[in-house]
Amino acid sequence: MMKVTAVYPGSFDPITNGHIYIAERAAAVFDEVIVSVLVNERKTSAFTVEERCVMARESLGHVKNITVDSFNGLLVDYVRQKNAGVIVRGLRAMSDFEYEFQMALMNRQLAPEIETFFIVTDPKYSYVSSSSVREIFHFGGTVRDVVPQGVYEKLSNRCCNP
Ligand code: ADP
Repeated sequence: MMKVTAVYPGSFDPITNGHIYIAERAAAVFDEVIVSVLVNERKTSAFTVEERCVMARESLGHVKNITVDSFNGLLVDYVRQKNAGVIVRGLRAMSDFEYEFQMALMNRQLAPEIETFFIVTDPKYSYVSSSSVREIFHFGGTVRDVVPQGVYEKLSNRCCNP
């Protein structure tokens, strides 16, 4: 049977336990999953693309069929270039739906052969986002339970040695 590769794209700035949950579930369904960090020059990020890839690799190393990569430009071009047939995205709440729906339709318009799959989050991660992690950490709150250990350490180092 043909192997199905899925791309899970995102900013992952930084990767959270919510992202990891989605990546693991995708890896249980698809033969290969590429977690791919979007390089977006127009969006200012807390971590460089390289740092984001390292953190993602560290926290997903236990899953054999996941690789971590980065890309710029149009997502569908990248997905085609990787010979992947699927885009995976995570859904937290209704608030994600509007944006995700629009993006899925736009991508289908651009590349009808690529399918977008949505994986629903675990309720315990439904409130977790990279931006809230950055904000909570900035104001001294604890993010230990919502990010992997390596990310927690990177955040801590950043805070002490800016
Ligand atoms: P983007 O800037 O592309 O939205 P993110 O890194 O914020 O990138 O998110 C990537 C994907 O992961 C999106 O589909 C987003 O909805 C999903 N996601 C983010 N946080 C969670 C979470 N806690 N649980 C499930 N999915 C999530």
